Amino acid sequence: MTKLMFKRKALIAWVALVAISVMPFTALAQTQIKYHNNRYSPQDDVKLGRQAAQEAESQFPLLRDETVRGYVESVGRRLVAAIPSEFQHPEFQYYFKVVNASDINAFALPGGPMYVNRGMIEAAHTEGEMAGVMAHELSHVALRHGTAQATKGQKYGVLAGIAGIAGTIFGGPGVGQLAQAPFAVYLLKFSREYETEADVLGAQIMARAGYDPRDLANMFRTIEQQGGGGGGFLSDHPSPSDRYARINREAQQLRVNADTRSDSREFARIQERLRGYQRAPSMAEIQRSGQRYPVGETTGNSPSNNYPNNPPTGRVAYPSSRYESYSIFNGGVSVRVPNNRRQVNEGNSVWFVPEGAYGQYNGQAVYTHGASFGVAQTNSRNLQSASQELINSLGQGNNNLRSNGGFQRTTMSGRNALFATLSNINEATGRPETVRVITTQLRNGQLFYMIAVAPQNERNFENAFQTILQSVRIND
Ligand SMILES: [Zn+2]
Repeated sequence: MTKLMFKRKALIAWVALVAISVMPFTALAQTQIKYHNNRYSPQDDVKLGRQAAQEAESQFPLLRDETVRGYVESVGRRLVAAIPSEFQHPEFQYYFKVVNASDINAFALPGGPMYVNRGMIEAAHTEGEMAGVMAHELSHVALRHGTAQATKGQKYGVLAGIAGIAGTIFGGPGVGQLAQAPFAVYLLKFSREYETEADVLGAQIMARAGYDPRDLANMFRTIEQQGGGGGGFLSDHPSPSDRYARINREAQQLRVNADTRSDSREFARIQERLRGYQRAPSMAEIQRSGQRYPVGETTGNSPSNNYPNNPPTGRVAYPSSRYESYSIFNGGVSVRVPNNRRQVNEGNSVWFVPEGAYGQYNGQAVYTHGASFGVAQTNSRNLQSASQELINSLGQGNNNLRSNGGFQRTTMSGRNALFATLSNINEATGRPETVRVITTQLRNGQLFYMIAVAPQNERNFENAFQTILQSVRIND
């Protein structure tokens, strides 16, 4: 680790020198990008990414070929060294691995880990095209988009933030169940704004690293030519043609660093080497074979992924009368849920939802039916004011959310709890819905909550809601 850091510093110093010598030409009209508001530290990004990387590696098959991995790493290092100094973080630990999957994709996690699909290397026409996708993903990392997005808050994902993600809520080692949470940060698409920033900074990094930034734009064409096989990368907003134009516009303002040259033969040799392997499975095939499939802004070309890109339909099966036990939050909580519900992790909250009840709308996770659990770090240690904080934070992302009266007393897992009923208009279906919020406190003072959502006119979810609530056991 230390060794790597040392090497990187040397590279950065070298690049800084180069950058100074070309500054008068390159820095003239390129788009200035700024960080978004972020209440996490760069060290939080590192922790988050490390846990997510563990999760990712338990889910996909890595290509165990040191020649290919080493090659991708060398391209990655060259790009990392070209990240503008204001977006460099000494804490970050960039590394690069190859996933043996055919989809044209790559993704990077907060703090540095990057995974490049074999399909992306095979599809690219040039090293520059491959580097383009990597530069785009690196830009999300350097701009700290994952934690910036978490700062903005996710629908019903709320306050818990890094305390829930990287910390140890229940005094356990903070891995296990919770390790799934960080990856879920990437379940959501980034906003159009973030995507454009990653394209623009990606183009700037390309130029600084000696690649033609137009290769990033070209990669969109390449993916389209290949039948849109990289759906995920293309399905981001803005549309590929907008992105193509935007990147090329930026490229006109950039001067490609002429001190670094690519050896196109090396890229050809790597592609040749990959052709020698048997066909890589697709992410969908990996999922069907029993390995779970993480979905993110960079994936999504699989119709069978576990987090749909489309909005929920709201047409769902009634709760089954048979219940199944789940242990969540690293064993800190157990709960019984109808057996036709599935677990979906979003941010730090865990949802139990029927098919058809969850999806994405305007880049946000939206649920029409379901129950979720989470832990919030609140300013107040008083149950009522802490609960009010939680409800206020829910209102931030949901303009139509209205409180129907105040809190009622109840119990959850044998402790004092508060119960509030809210009404909302579902973003995806436009239908009125009832949101029930039940809160209690953990021994460490954090707020534990259950949130249940169902359309207002569907009363038959009431029994399931009561049964789930009564089944909650907190072992903190
Ligand atoms: Zn992106």
